[in-house]
Amino acid sequence: KCHLESAKMLNLDSSVDASLNLQSRPDVLTCTYWKAAIIWEGMFDPRLYDEMHKMRGSSVALTVFAVGRYLDAYLHTFLNSSEQHFMVGLPVTYYVFTDMPEKVPNIKLSPLRSMKVIKVEKNSRWQDVSMMRMKSISDVIESDIRHHCTHVFCFDVDQVFTGRFGSEALGDSVALLHAHYYRLPKHLYTYDRNPNSKAYMETGDFYYHAAIFGGSWKNVKALTEACYQGIMEDKQNNVEALWHDESHLNKYMLLHKPSKVLSPEYCWDTSIGFRKDIQVTRLLWAPKYYDTLRTP
Ligand code: UDP
Ligand code: MN
Repeated sequence: KCHLESAKMLNLDSSVDASLNLQSRPDVLTCTYWKAAIIWEGMFDPRLYDEMHKMRGSSVALTVFAVGRYLDAYLHTFLNSSEQHFMVGLPVTYYVFTDMPEKVPNIKLSPLRSMKVIKVEKNSRWQDVSMMRMKSISDVIESDIRHHCTHVFCFDVDQVFTGRFGSEALGDSVALLHAHYYRLPKHLYTYDRNPNSKAYMETGDFYYHAAIFGGSWKNVKALTEACYQGIMEDKQNNVEALWHDESHLNKYMLLHKPSKVLSPEYCWDTSIGFRKDIQVTRLLWAPKYYDTLRTP
């Protein structure tokens, strides 16, 4: 019994998950070897989770970056869809980071939901835009989020919510299984294998996707700080990890196991095609237009 007694004993998101009767599923892995739940459709009762989190006063910060051309291309769809599906019923504060605050779309938010826009500089390399998110997130947790929210979720903007992304996803430290890797053998995982990088690792538990990570504000602050430090040390040593912030995230999660893992339902790429184990899609990859979006 992964999710009940052992989770309780190990204190893994214990007071919530362990008491809410997570079910297993025969066709997929629903538990890591360190007894963290891997969340799939059919395992949980959404109403119980929502009730529990309302009772406990959970509130969620969502961070998202829309820098340069990514703003026009994705932000409106992202925010509109998250109003429909992300943590409905719980207090949510959006933290939108952009170089063009005046262009952030004016979206009518539901009650209990608000938005803060934070101006950031536009790095010229897209790799730096992506990596420097770690620094901005850690800064805003310190200056603002920790006073207002219990949990933080950090998202790429090039995606769209299509189904419930609810309180079952909340936990102390949450990582996402990458849709393209969850069924592949470990030797195909694209970890950073350059021993000169701080992100270096030979092997790990899973290949996590950096498009979504989250946790308590304390844990997300520790994670983003550690990843930022690794990134800066790499810069001093003139190396860059293979997949940038994602490589550093994977290294961090190897050393600090997540207390909850999200199945690829939470970030699915429809170009993969039909998969019997994906019973719902909660968030989909939006089309990538790297040629036009990433050119300076
Ligand atoms: N991003 C941005 N402007 C850029 C490059 C990146 O706003 O010029 C942000 C945006 O939130 C994006 C994230 O950084 O979703 C990660 O970049 P991208 O989605 O291109 O990476 P990929 O999904 O290909 O790993
Ligand atoms: Mn992306």
